[in-house]
Parts: sequence; structure tokens; C-alpha cells
Amino acid sequence: MPEPIELHHQGVERSIGCYLLDTDDGPALFDCGPSTTIAALKVGLAAEGLRLVDIRHLLLSHIHLDHAGAAGALVREHPALQVHVSEIGAPHLVDPSRLERSARRLYGDSFDTLWGELTPVPEANVHVVGDVVVGLACFPTPGHATHHVSYLDDDGTLYAGDAAGVRIQPGRYVMPPTPPPDFDLEAWQRTIDEMDRRAPERLALIHFGVADDPQRHLADLRLELFDWAEFVQGGASEEEFIAYGRAELADAGEDVAVYDVAMPLWQSYRGLARWAETR
Ligand SMILES: [Zn+2]
Repeated sequence: MPEPIELHHQGVERSIGCYLLDTDDGPALFDCGPSTTIAALKVGLAAEGLRLVDIRHLLLSHIHLDHAGAAGALVREHPALQVHVSEIGAPHLVDPSRLERSARRLYGDSFDTLWGELTPVPEANVHVVGDVVVGLACFPTPGHATHHVSYLDDDGTLYAGDAAGVRIQPGRYVMPPTPPPDFDLEAWQRTIDEMDRRAPERLALIHFGVADDPQRHLADLRLELFDWAEFVQGGASEEEFIAYGRAELADAGEDVAVYDVAMPLWQSYRGLARWAETR
């Protein structure tokens, strides 16, 4: 059973993790967190007897900063690290200026404390994923982001990223992360179909931990996506949506503060509202 590396983002436990895995070509990371948590990442690797230079591959789910922000800084320190990402995501690793501009618009003054530096990844280190990446099956999982991919290991672990939602283990509530600009309800439902079809035994979530009940988890995610989309399409304001989301968390007995760090509700509202507008 894989265990996440705790990145202690913003000093909050169980908000952002990443995974160390064994591949056909040596140790790899699934996602790496932002630049602000590189020290915690190294502590996590050291606990497994590894240093950053021992890692051969970085498998990225997508390029959002909480998952991939540290990629450039890690490659700068360890130039042999090979970074795998979807075709749409690749150019933004090589030249992160557009990604940084749009993230600064979204996060304003808190950008630097949340994410730290965004360093380009040299083109030679960037590999566009195919159907198989260092022995893991790889497939597109859009919905949260158009360029999202997930990786299925032979052992039944689906390194899902945000495509399987946010669920702070050991909690049971599954929260859809629906940020702008890409959130797409229909694409996400097809993604859930595909994840179901591949019948994983467990889901490795970045926010946070490994879920060992994939069928129940994915069914809940599907319903919650429809519920949120309907609520916002029905004209809910940002304030109403946040109150709704918080009430759901409270009902489920979850720690609202951790979810606020892992996936703030205001951001999910903006993605849902944008999606509703463009339909
Ligand atoms: Zn994301």
C-alpha cells in the first residue's frame, strides 16, 4: 500500500502530498508539490533512505502549482530527472510564464507565500506521455483540467491526481475540485467512466492519501459533481456556494480548515460559474 509523502503545505498536515513509487526504471515521484515544500519533500525521501538525486522520473498528473510547481527547481538541482507530462501541459513546463501570469491573477498577493518560484524545466528533460510511462499505464483524465492524466500501476494503484477528487483520509467525504479555467462536467463524467472501467484497487490522491474503496469513492464523486453543477447553474452566488460546501463538510464531520488549504471553495465556485456561463 503506497503512502503519501507529507508536504506540510502552509504548515497544514494532510493538505498536499505526493508519492514515491518503484518503476521499471528506478524510483519515481508522482507529482512533487510546489517549490515552497521542497524541504518537506526531501525529508520524506530521506525517510525512505533516498536523496533527490536517486529519483529518476517525475510523473506529473497536471501542471497546477500544488502538483507540479517544484518541477523546474527540482530539475535545476538534479539535471538527470526526467519529467513526464501530457502534451498540453509540456509547453507550460518549458515556459511557465503564462501559467504564472494566470496563477498570479487567481491568487493575487498570496502567490509567493503559497507557491514560491516557478522555474522552467529544460525541454530535454520533458517527455510527453504515451500509453505507457516507465511501466505504468497512462491515460487522459480531463474534467478538473483538460491536460490531466493518471497512471495505473500493475499493483492496482491508480495514481489519480485531482481527477478522483479531494478526500482527506481517513475521511469519507469526496470533494470535487472544480477550479477555473478548465472545469468540464461532461469530460469529468467520462473520466470517471474510464477510471471505473480500469477497476483500480486503490486511488492515490494528492489531497490526501490512499482510498481503498474506489467504486464507492468514484460513485460519490460523480454524484457530488452533478450536485454542485446543478447548484451553481441554478444561480447560487459565491457566498451561497461556500456556505453550502462548508455545511456539507461539517455534516460529514470533516475538518473544514484542511479542505480550505487543499482546495478552497471560492476557487471551485469560480470554475463552476465559468463552466455554467459558457454552456
Ligand atoms: Zn489541479
